[in-house]
Amino acid sequence: MNNKLYGNLIFELSQEGRRGYSLPKNRFGSYEIPASMRRKEDAQLPECDEMTVVRHYTNLSANNFGVDNGFYPLGSCTMKYNPKINEEMAALPQFTALHPLQPAQTVKGAEAACAMLQKLLCELTGLHAFTLKPFAGAHGELTGLMVIKKYHEQRGDMARRLVIVPDSAHGTNPASAAVCGMDIVEVKSLSDGTVDVEALKELLAQRGSEIAAMMMTNPNTLGLFEKQIPAIEKMVHEAGGLMYYDGANLNPMLGAARPGDMGFDVMHINLHKTFSTPHGGGGPGAGPVGVRKGLEDCFPVVSPYHGNFAVEMRALAYILTLGRENVKLVGPLATLNANYIKESLKDVYELPIDGLCKHEFVFDGLKDKSTGVTTMDVAKRLLDYGYHAPTIYFPLLFHESLMIEPTENESKETIDGFIAVMRQIAEEARTNPDEVKSAPHNTPIGRVDDVLAAKHPVVTWRQLKSEA
Ligand SMILES: *Cc1c(COP(=O)(O)O)cnc(C)c1O
Repeated sequence: MNNKLYGNLIFELSQEGRRGYSLPKNRFGSYEIPASMRRKEDAQLPECDEMTVVRHYTNLSANNFGVDNGFYPLGSCTMKYNPKINEEMAALPQFTALHPLQPAQTVKGAEAACAMLQKLLCELTGLHAFTLKPFAGAHGELTGLMVIKKYHEQRGDMARRLVIVPDSAHGTNPASAAVCGMDIVEVKSLSDGTVDVEALKELLAQRGSEIAAMMMTNPNTLGLFEKQIPAIEKMVHEAGGLMYYDGANLNPMLGAARPGDMGFDVMHINLHKTFSTPHGGGGPGAGPVGVRKGLEDCFPVVSPYHGNFAVEMRALAYILTLGRENVKLVGPLATLNANYIKESLKDVYELPIDGLCKHEFVFDGLKDKSTGVTTMDVAKRLLDYGYHAPTIYFPLLFHESLMIEPTENESKETIDGFIAVMRQIAEEARTNPDEVKSAPHNTPIGRVDDVLAAKHPVVTWRQLKSEA
């Protein structure tokens, strides 16, 4: 794209007096807007012809990167391909033309579709009932914790206000517990990345009667299966607490194991991640919450109606088009792809926790630390080669985290191409580190100053102009 010709901002293309429309003269006489309500000066709008506007936005859209453009190995986000049939099904006028206040007897089909999804989620997770109301994963966590809170209150056990969260947990876990009015206690991870059962045992011995629940992410944020779940589940239940499963990253579990069978009482699922809704940039999402038998009466009302209905219909279409047999291939294939990349790169990237991973894994930067090339530099250089960067500097357990999640959808050719480029970057870091440190070079905007952007954000064009 020629930035000079088309401009980065629509305001830069403005020419005084230029118009994209022509309206007939007002034939109806002017009706007065009170002077106090009128503008003192004209709105500062860009003045452009229609074709300039169309070209500007069309070219901007071409700068966007999504799963439909290329490989998007953003760890913990499950940026998997979203089959287009999901969009068609969710966009059926029989669904989109519904009004939330329609009489119940006129929306039986939509209700049946929701019920079908709830039943399938029960089957896939081994839990008893699901509410579709929560709008996202974090919203699901809050909903699930409200269920747990109510459960203890109903039993008259008001002292249970403590939620155990492993130090490797997603930041939303402690945040949701705090929003729910509970206290948080952290339990450490072992050097292999899994929960320290001895530390947990000690904590339960000291504060067992205060424990409302333990939240676990499985596979955890390092992409590792928590092998000690049977022991942990037993200990927490014996102490009187419930087990909460953060199922945001359920993808690798499809066809492998079910949270309900592992003894979990409550969980949420990120439909937008595992069940294929285009997400990122903050939405849209759906975070249904499932509970074991006996807890379904504790569901709170956290949103009106049936939650994010279109996301639910995409998930339903996704599950039904895959079918029972193919759904079970999702987990094993996602796991295979992640392990293939890990094994193909671990001689040049630092693998702090070696061993079998599930759907994702974490490198701690380049193996050769003498080059001065950081994880940030590697991520920026990947953009030059046409790949979306992996998740970087998360989880916080390592200094140079680089978290890769390929998903089950990618072909061997795509994955081999990515591996080759990651090796090429490792080589460049050795032979030409400045090239990597100053990347990206081929993108419309080069390396941005993160610190300046965070400390002095300039988000309006006018301010930018006055500073120039
Ligand atoms: C993405 C994610 C969440 C939060 O989900 P949102 O839909 O973004 O609110 C919670 N936990 C884990 C492990 C996640 O990966």
